[in-house]
Amino acid sequence: MKAIRIDHIGIAVEKEGVWETIAEILGIRPSEKQKVESEGISVRFLKIGDTRIELLYPEDENSTVKKFIEKRGPGIHHIAIEVEDLEKCVKELREKGFSTVGEKPVTGAEGYRAIFIHPKSTQGVLLELIEK
Ligand code: ZN
Repeated sequence: MKAIRIDHIGIAVEKEGVWETIAEILGIRPSEKQKVESEGISVRFLKIGDTRIELLYPEDENSTVKKFIEKRGPGIHHIAIEVEDLEKCVKELREKGFSTVGEKPVTGAEGYRAIFIHPKSTQGVLLELIEK
């Protein structure tokens, strides 16, 4: 796998106003809230240099983010790594015995292709691989 950089850090939040607190601390205004229907969440991005914080809001009772917050509380949810040739990365990971969440990369909030490595493969650390 060729990892290029950390694209963003996903943070699961319970309340809508959290972005205002983070924006006040960092002096950065987030992007507009966007719905990700397939995940039952909304997201906002806070850009810091060439990386970002992604705030994840559960909108649906059954979303995995909602379940994550119930189980572990709000906080760091995943780290997204930009990679070169996502399909090839997924193939290599499967050959090494790692599993992914879903069979194929999906198109995420900003139109980039992405896939999560299953947390069972990484002792609970959720890694998202994305290709731009
Ligand atoms: Zn993400």
